Amino acid sequence: MRQSPQRRISLVAKDARHILHPWADLTSLGRQNSLVISEADGIRVTDSQGKTYLDGIGGMWCITVGYRHRDLIAAMRAQAETMVYFTPFGNVTSEPASQLASLLSELSPGDLNRVHFTTCGSTAVESAVRIAHYYFSCRGQRQKRHVLAQTNAYHGSTYLAASLSGKAVDRTHFHYEGGWVHHLESPAFDPDNSTVSAAERLDHLIAGMERAIARIGPEQIACFVAEPILASGGVLIPPPGYHQAALDLCRQHDILYISDEVVSAFGRLGHFFASETRFGIVPDLLVTAKGITSGYQPLGAVLLSDRIADALVEAADPAKPVLSNGFTYSGHPVACATAIANIAVMQREKICEHVRDVGPYFLERLRGLRNWSIVAAVRGDHLMACVECHVPGETGPTPRNQALARAVDAYCARSGLLVRPYENLCILSPALIIVKEEIDQIVAILDDALARAERDLW
Ligand code: PLP
Repeated sequence: MRQSPQRRISLVAKDARHILHPWADLTSLGRQNSLVISEADGIRVTDSQGKTYLDGIGGMWCITVGYRHRDLIAAMRAQAETMVYFTPFGNVTSEPASQLASLLSELSPGDLNRVHFTTCGSTAVESAVRIAHYYFSCRGQRQKRHVLAQTNAYHGSTYLAASLSGKAVDRTHFHYEGGWVHHLESPAFDPDNSTVSAAERLDHLIAGMERAIARIGPEQIACFVAEPILASGGVLIPPPGYHQAALDLCRQHDILYISDEVVSAFGRLGHFFASETRFGIVPDLLVTAKGITSGYQPLGAVLLSDRIADALVEAADPAKPVLSNGFTYSGHPVACATAIANIAVMQREKICEHVRDVGPYFLERLRGLRNWSIVAAVRGDHLMACVECHVPGETGPTPRNQALARAVDAYCARSGLLVRPYENLCILSPALIIVKEEIDQIVAILDDALARAERDLW
């Protein structure tokens, strides 16, 4: 709804005075001139002044079936009217949670047949690691608690999830778990900008992982947490075979493999879950969130293999039988009902098949932007992509390269496209219902923005 200028000014002023945003830029706190998004429909959002934008980021990697989908809204309303909330603790369930858990085990890889619901991605990652700890402790191996993670991965913003995240830029001022979290080298491999072959890069990464396991001692390591493609770290894609080789190493040393599919699941890479269908692995635990409800409701889930779940039951201590992990809003009924409707829509509208059709076109069109001298790289996989900007001759997220990406972002916004600026990257993850004409519109706006930013530079 278009708001009067006075109302908008008042909203922005209240925001500036009172909100400390997630990931706030503290240099402008108190003066932030926030964009007020008032409406959303399909793959577009509209601000309070009535300006409509193509949403190039799918909310935040999460909008899959598009905004204002009638089925999801109807499911939310129906569940809220029927039974809005009751505790999920202990042996109490709700109809949507029970139905959704069964649906997820049908869709998920291999024997990932048991679901532990949470509230979001961060709480799901934390819960998965806690379950790994619990699993080894039950089996009398309490010392197996160290965690291997990836440099440049992002796993969330709670204490442990943030400790597992491996982005140097976020490691300021806060405290992190340092004693038992170990970051392996970022597995990024970009064939366009690499001096080594994919096979050499793979050997190097796996040798590094082997050395880390030997140094820490496999008897001390509980799990390895990995993103299939490192999304927020800059859409970093490992060399082919990386996940399989890492899983083999984990199995050899009795280390649990936790796949963080918070971004990659629910169609973004063309499959409900990317682990098995896209990367050929069945992890021990799989974490998901975001696209599970198409961003309509907050929800996270840890999927456990039968092997892990059975081992927890076998080792259960009658004196202390409780798995003390969960949240007031774990598997909230309205969120679960929304997820069920979302899955039905994805199946009926053949969303994964659609992504497999338009995904390669999206990347091919984006790759055409490499002709601009300020584009250092274009990376991606289906509907997860980024354009990396640089002042020619300068590499990485230097202040000038970051300023350049911000300029591209500002030109895009002016022309009606929202992209996500992160360091010197413009990240793109549109809703999965995007069609080729809309991809052309996104690329045309980006092309124009890059032309303007390049002209400004010289
Ligand atoms: N894992 C990955 C791969 C993510 O990209 C994110 C968020 O972007 C998270 C976990 C954390 O999810 P949430 O923000 O829902 O806590």
